[in-house]
Amino acid sequence: MYDKKNIFAKIIEKKLPSTIVYEDDSIMAFKDTMPIAPIHIIVIPKGDFIDYSYFIKQSSKEEIAYFFTKLYEIAHKECGGDFRICTNNGPKSGQTIFHFHAHIISGKNLGDLG
Ligand code: 5GP
Repeated sequence: MYDKKNIFAKIIEKKLPSTIVYEDDSIMAFKDTMPIAPIHIIVIPKGDFIDYSYFIKQSSKEEIAYFFTKLYEIAHKECGGDFRICTNNGPKSGQTIFHFHAHIISGKNLGDLG
């Protein structure tokens, strides 16, 4: 069950501060507060999706295409050509905040991260 009090839900509602990189009616991108590289941005849909699996199962093809196209555009604008995009899906994957999000990571040689 989606927890409406999760950190990213509070960021969407502006109940918690964040450094916003991009926002529109359906998507928000903001800086990760514990970056693992010089550029570390979190991109989320504003809908109540626990993780990537829920987002894919509960969204239309148009909504999915919009999210991933914007994800690319934000990554390209903020990072240029070299970046990593990843998402953790479920507790055993390392997911700690249960609102679907993609990480954009860049700004260093990511080979060092493994
Ligand atoms: P996950 O482990 O769920 O894939 O990623 C959660 C991410 O959220 C982590 O990279 C973590 O550093 C980041 N994070 C945790 N709390 C906050 C917060 O209050 N604000 C922001 N902007 N990022 C957070």
